[in-house]
Amino acid sequence: MVPWVAYIGYSSGADFVGTLLLGLLFLLVFLCVVLHEFGHALAARRYGIQTEDIILSPIGGVARMRRMPDKPLREFIVALAGPMVNVVIAFILGIYFIASNMEFFTLMGESGGILDEVTAKSYVDNMPWLDQGIGVLIMVNIMLVLFNLIPAFPMDGGRMFRAILSGFTDRVTATKIAAYVGQAFAVIFLVIGLSQQQYMFALVGFFVGYMAMNELRMIRTDALYSGLKVGQVTRYNYTRLDVFSTQSQVIEMFMHGWEKNFLVFDGDGTLIGILTEASIIKWMNDTASFSTIHPYINREFPTLHSEQSFREAFKVMQQHQLDFLPVTLGGSVIGVVDKNAMFEFMRIQEKIKK
Ligand SMILES: [Zn+2]
Repeated sequence: MVPWVAYIGYSSGADFVGTLLLGLLFLLVFLCVVLHEFGHALAARRYGIQTEDIILSPIGGVARMRRMPDKPLREFIVALAGPMVNVVIAFILGIYFIASNMEFFTLMGESGGILDEVTAKSYVDNMPWLDQGIGVLIMVNIMLVLFNLIPAFPMDGGRMFRAILSGFTDRVTATKIAAYVGQAFAVIFLVIGLSQQQYMFALVGFFVGYMAMNELRMIRTDALYSGLKVGQVTRYNYTRLDVFSTQSQVIEMFMHGWEKNFLVFDGDGTLIGILTEASIIKWMNDTASFSTIHPYINREFPTLHSEQSFREAFKVMQQHQLDFLPVTLGGSVIGVVDKNAMFEFMRIQEKIKK
């Protein structure tokens, strides 16, 4: 940013002090963006939501929260808190600005609000640098408020819009409507930006469109996850490994069959553990080929039941670092489920729903 400020300062004919002041102004603009994000973070904290960090990009900041507020009113308040910070900043600076430039505003009042351009320009040019800087900051804060209140994702206005919609319909539908409106805005931005050669505007349009699409995809996947049940992909035909199986028997099944993970049962037919692909490979790599299956069995495993949703199943799999689990019903094992089969099923479901 420093070389950029120096370049702008230099090319606009400013001297060293002028360039320095310009740099200071950029820092203050930056500060306004940071304070905006702090507004979100503080509001979120009121509801017990921690903020991981605040990322700053040329297009604005993002406060990354651990989770999003689930109650619509809370989401609304957290989204509104950011722009409100800029309203307050603009208001405070505005009071100073008006008080310090009474002459200008009196002139404007007398002319009925329409001051001719030459008079206005000469007044602004003769303004002390402090007032000029504050004028810019007020404009920046007003722009930040207006920009963020656009009812499109990822802008705060988009979240507020969704929160309001959530009061009338379910969250998925609310997100869909908000995302479609976001995409409409993105198209408008792109058209205006490209036709007026305002490329920054077009870039924002592209960004908004991308984020809206992302949000839509996320909510769709989420709806799909929670609608699908483990029972829908439970495989009833599976090989039951005996606890007395030898390495060569396991390798035979592993290499020549398509199953790569197995459930291991003891002599009574009780499930005692899981033998995963990784463990079998480890067993093959270990030198003592006559060794027993015992050290390779994963005995710390959860079970799923067929009524559990995909979302819960994925969570359990991630917690235990296992992609393959037994499915039980009434205390007995009825089949197995593996992550690849779940992904495959979702891929097919997505196609069917269209
Ligand atoms: Zn914001």
